[in-house]
Amino acid sequence: MVETEALFSAVLDATADAVMVTDRTGVIRRINPAFEKLTWFDPSMLLGKDARELFSDINDDQFLGELWAEGAAPRHYPQVRSKHADGRAQVHALSMTSVNDAAGQPSQFVAVILSESLQGDINSTEARRVGYDALTNLPDRSILADRVEQNILNAKRANKSIALLVMGLDRFALVNDALGYAAGDQMLREVAERLAKVIRVSDTAARLDGDKFAVMTPIAAIDDSVIVAEKVLNAIKKPFHLKDEEVFVTFSIGISIYPTDGQDFDDLLKDSLSAMQYAKQDGGSQYRFFASDMNAKAKNRLALEKRMRAALVNEEFVLFYQPKVEPSTNRVKGGEALIRWRDPVHGMISPGEFIPVAEETGLIVDIGTWVMRKACFQVKAWQDAGYAPVKMSVNVSSMQFKAKDLLDKVKAALADSKLDAKWLELEITESMLMNDVEGAIARMQAVRDLGCGLSIDDFGTGYSSLSYLGRFPITTLKIDRAFVKDVQDNQNTAEIARAIIGLSRGLNLEVVAEGAELKEHIDFLKENGCDSIQGFFYSKPLEAKDFEAKLTKL
Ligand code: C2E
Ligand code: MG
Ligand code: MG
Repeated sequence: MVETEALFSAVLDATADAVMVTDRTGVIRRINPAFEKLTWFDPSMLLGKDARELFSDINDDQFLGELWAEGAAPRHYPQVRSKHADGRAQVHALSMTSVNDAAGQPSQFVAVILSESLQGDINSTEARRVGYDALTNLPDRSILADRVEQNILNAKRANKSIALLVMGLDRFALVNDALGYAAGDQMLREVAERLAKVIRVSDTAARLDGDKFAVMTPIAAIDDSVIVAEKVLNAIKKPFHLKDEEVFVTFSIGISIYPTDGQDFDDLLKDSLSAMQYAKQDGGSQYRFFASDMNAKAKNRLALEKRMRAALVNEEFVLFYQPKVEPSTNRVKGGEALIRWRDPVHGMISPGEFIPVAEETGLIVDIGTWVMRKACFQVKAWQDAGYAPVKMSVNVSSMQFKAKDLLDKVKAALADSKLDAKWLELEITESMLMNDVEGAIARMQAVRDLGCGLSIDDFGTGYSSLSYLGRFPITTLKIDRAFVKDVQDNQNTAEIARAIIGLSRGLNLEVVAEGAELKEHIDFLKENGCDSIQGFFYSKPLEAKDFEAKLTKL
């Protein structure tokens, strides 16, 4: 038992989530270090107190009554307000679990605030604004330091990165000199407002001192920090109206990244400040990374993004179509539309090179819409020309799939091209579904309700749990190339491929194999009952006119 207590303590001390243990009546018995850090309450101020006090007056009463109700099962509240020692209220999710005694009655309750769920502060009326900058109302350096350290803990656990952007106004002294300090203050307040508007809920904007601000943002890739920096630069570029004058200012931004540039807040701040100095020396109105090789990468990415925008306008994108063949008849039953970029300078660029950047910049949404429309019009044109109809699939990226107007875009593409929905199939990947399974299922169902097919691409390489597969309203599974390429000499891969085909059969799904290059692949897939096969053995992706040549005239 001693061991259990030691283990319990170690877990409580190590976790970044805030944990509070109360007795059955709601009296606080224990809090962990993360809880102290989140609320700034010293344990001596909380232990022995009624936990409801932390939540009263700022949440509705029914919720309060429910929190320590008898016989409570685990409950999760996505949006709860709790008091901070300095008088603010913070918003976060809260999970309540009860520990039952031998008679099955709750003897203790465990309240957990997931650190990731913290959404920021609400100013309660009588708030003492400790930790907040009086002029701009932004968090000050101390809160920023705290948030950065907290995010470093999370990032460490999840193997993620954080960017710290430090920004200084270029030539701010001129504004003060020319228009006076009151106008200068007004500008700083407005800068703060613009900053607060461009950041996401998971980010923190702060004022460091004078004309220096900072933004902390958790990032998945370095480019994410470029996106934030560009947003900030753009937000500041718009004119400020001070004393009936239009005033223009710019920012110099320095960016450092955890873990590559520094391990704690102080290190990161130092690095960002020095990078900011370089940005200023180079003329201002720009961002610089602390690590110099990042600057070159960022430049390339920016150039690619610009060229991609132009490519959409100049119609440099082309769709290729790869046949899906029914192995028993060798007939082309369908196809997959695959985008190519015919760049006038660099020649043909494969999607592997530009799709990831298009995804990061959001351009994928426009590109994806173009792909969908182009494919629909093309397929309808083939039908009108008297070919036996084929079902065409298009790849839908994560951002596109989650966009609110996905359905409208699909509907419009179908209506404008007059293509019957059953000839269009959307390909999505497992990784797009697992974050928010219920939401994903609803979106999938809506696509299915339009009458379109829905397929899971690269099946077997994602992390989807088989238990969900039966709930996904899909029509097709595409076996990833990885399970096809060595079926002929790897017993294990062959078993997996067979299992996926069997699974599709059991769930009444169509099954398509990708990347079949060899006669052996075809023989294996045919023998095991695969419905259709896509791969170089039959054909590479083709230009429209070459694909057309493979279609059957009715
Ligand atoms: P994907 O959707 O899994 O597409 C199949 C890829 O496998 C294509 O590469 C295709 O050319 C290639 N492939 C087909 N048969 C064989 C084979 O027998 N052997 C080998 N080695 N490869 C084969 P591609 O066209 O370069 O596209 C790569 C990926 O880019 C696609 O993978 C898809 O994820 C993405 N992509 C392509 N077009 C679009 C698009 O319009 N929108 C979006 N969001 N993504 C696209
Ligand atoms: Mg695909
Ligand atoms: Mg694929």
